[in-house]
Amino acid sequence: MGFNVAIDGPAGAGKSTIAKLVAKETGFIYVDTGAMYRALAVHFINEGLDGEDVSAIEEACKRASVSIRYEDGVQKVLLNGEDVSTLIRQENVGNMASKSSTVPKVREKLLELQRNLAAQEDVIMDGRDIGTNILPKAEVKIYLTASVSTRAKRRFDELTEKGVQCNYDDICHDIEDRDYRDMNRETAPLKQAEDAILIDSSDMTISEVVSKIMTYIEKKR
Ligand code: C5P
Repeated sequence: MGFNVAIDGPAGAGKSTIAKLVAKETGFIYVDTGAMYRALAVHFINEGLDGEDVSAIEEACKRASVSIRYEDGVQKVLLNGEDVSTLIRQENVGNMASKSSTVPKVREKLLELQRNLAAQEDVIMDGRDIGTNILPKAEVKIYLTASVSTRAKRRFDELTEKGVQCNYDDICHDIEDRDYRDMNRETAPLKQAEDAILIDSSDMTISEVVSKIMTYIEKKR
C-alpha cells in the first residue's frame, strides 16, 4: 500500500494546482480523478447523449474503457486507448462530466482504477469523494475549499488571460450549479470527511496552502 494523500473539494478551489506542487515536493504521483470523469464524458458526448439520460449513460458505460499513463510524470488519460488529455479540458466536457458523474454506474466504473493506483504507488489524489469513499484510510486527508466569489474570480481571470470572453455572473452560477450537483447526488456526494483537515484558500496564497499541507504530510511520514 502506498502513502496516500486525498484532496477533495468543490470545483475551482485550486485542488489540481496545489496537488501538482505537493506531488513535486514529495515525489508522489499526482492522480487527477476529475480527468477520468471527463474522459467518460467525452465518450457520452461522442455518442450524442443527454447528460440527464441515466439509462443511456449506463448503457454507454459498457462501451467505454478509461486508463491512465504517465509521461514525464504528467498524467495522460486514455479513452478506449486514445489520448484525450487535451480534449477533456473543453467547457462542454466539464459540463457533461458534472452531470454524468452523478450516475452510480459511472462512479463504479472508475472506483477500481483509482484504488489500484493508490495501492501501488505513493499518491496525491484529488477529486470529490477520495477521502470519504475511494481512500477512506488515506494517511492525510485535505478538504480544500474557497468562497464562490473567490473561485469565480480565479476562473474569470484564468479565462480572460487565455483571451476567452466570459461573464463573471455566469461563472458564479455555473460554480453554484456544479457545487449543488456534487454535494447533493446520492452516490458519494462531495463532503468533508470526518478526519479531513479543512483548508479555506480564499485568503491564502498557493505557497501558503502547499506548505500547510506539507506539514501534515511530514507529520505522518
Ligand atoms: O475536477 P474536475 O472539474 O476536472 O471534475 C470534472 C467533474 O467530475 C466534476 O464536475 C465533478 O462533478 C466530477 N468528479 C467527481 N468525483 C471526482 C472527481 C470529479 O464527481 N472524484
